[in-house]
Amino acid sequence: MQKLLYLCTLLVCMSQYDYLIVGAGLFGATFAFKAKMAGKKCLVIDKREHLGGNVYCERVAGINVHKYGAHIFHTSNRAVWDFVNSLVPFNRYTNCPVANYKGELYNLPFNMNTFYQMWGVRTPDEAIAKVESQKSKVKSMLNGREPRNLEEQALLLVGKDIYEKLIKGYTEKQWGRSCTELPAFIIRRLPLRFVYDNNYFNDFYQGIPVGGYNLLVEQLLEGIDTRTNCDFFAHRSELTALADKIIYTGPIDRFYDFRFGKLEYRTVRFETEIKDTPNYQGNAVINYTDRETPFTRIIEHKHFESFGQAVYDNPKTVISREYSTEWQPGMEPYYPVNDNKNASLYAQYKALADNESKVFFGGRLAEYKYYDMAPTIEQALCLADKELKE
Ligand code: FAD
Ligand code: UDP
Repeated sequence: MQKLLYLCTLLVCMSQYDYLIVGAGLFGATFAFKAKMAGKKCLVIDKREHLGGNVYCERVAGINVHKYGAHIFHTSNRAVWDFVNSLVPFNRYTNCPVANYKGELYNLPFNMNTFYQMWGVRTPDEAIAKVESQKSKVKSMLNGREPRNLEEQALLLVGKDIYEKLIKGYTEKQWGRSCTELPAFIIRRLPLRFVYDNNYFNDFYQGIPVGGYNLLVEQLLEGIDTRTNCDFFAHRSELTALADKIIYTGPIDRFYDFRFGKLEYRTVRFETEIKDTPNYQGNAVINYTDRETPFTRIIEHKHFESFGQAVYDNPKTVISREYSTEWQPGMEPYYPVNDNKNASLYAQYKALADNESKVFFGGRLAEYKYYDMAPTIEQALCLADKELKE
């Protein structure tokens, strides 16, 4: 009798899963994959109607449409690149956005093609001399001190013409603030090159999964229990009881019932349209860098996965115009706001999170940090290594 009672108690106490993973984005899915490999049982839930988080693609007119914004995978981390390629091969897509300033076209990032288009200069020496002469005014104004805002930094990097045509309008639309109120570091990540090279990234590896991102997510989550349309907070106690530990990838302030206040974000509204033409703009990404055009860029999704003549295999195309806006509750939280107010609010939540023993916070929402895909995967692999060691 006593033995039976003991067995019953054991059964009641035993959780069904080792890990409940809240959020089926790349962080949650990568952790789940590694946990499964280590023999752990996971339940992955997502409040959305699909898995994959922000890399999810919707099939429209036979084209993979990046529903939450264009996603280009790029990294110099060989381990991460090998990891994703072991799940699905990647194609040779290389991001080479074009800027449209009031009908004038310029290659990005700023390189010899841009300088030729802007000033007619043909050699690196001519381009360097031109950039230097453009920078001279701001250099003497700064008189050796560090740039204090994005405008000063941009002028110091590339000078007046490029700042005014390719940076000012785009940046102010994207961030909803004047360039003089934005931090200098935002613009430092844009490459400046005195070679003819339109590759937007400096990374060693770049591409899009052949067949789209959904295949990558399917591979990561294969054989793992998943539930969509399942909001953690709608069933918090039942879900928590199902597992020994939680990997939480949702917004950190929501986990703590916004007790210190709400974190802020920038968001993007997408206006997606099917066009009755096989090739609308001839490139995946065209940035509209003037202040007057209300959207920041147009994405033509088919160019991520078909190249050359193959573009014409499908008589239709799908484009998305991107409108950058201030985030309101109920909208998708995309970009954390880089200011002191939000940084100190996040620090308060992080202090609580650091004291949890059974909940791990990871990914772009739980860490309130803009992470590209590769660093997200790297962080999840790192947590899995630590957590699944024993
Ligand atoms: P997410 O993908 O956001 O996944 C989190 C998941 O948690 C979501 O699916 C959400 O529904 C779920 N969730 C939240 N709350 C709950 C809850 N209460 N209950 C259940 N589920 C919940 N990276 C690149 O490398 N290249 C790019 O070109 C690129 N472009 C981008 C463009 C845009 C517009 C944005 C916003 C990001 C871009 N990124 C890009 C970054 C990329 O999206 C992230 O690195 C990646 O999505 C992070 O994965 P994650 O798992 O942390 O978050
Ligand atoms: N930027 C710009 N003009 C462009 C593209 C980018 O001025 O045509 C600026 C803009 O301020 C942006 C920053 O460069 O925030 C960094 O560019 P990136 O492409 O990394 O932008 P994000 O990833 O923030 O969309």
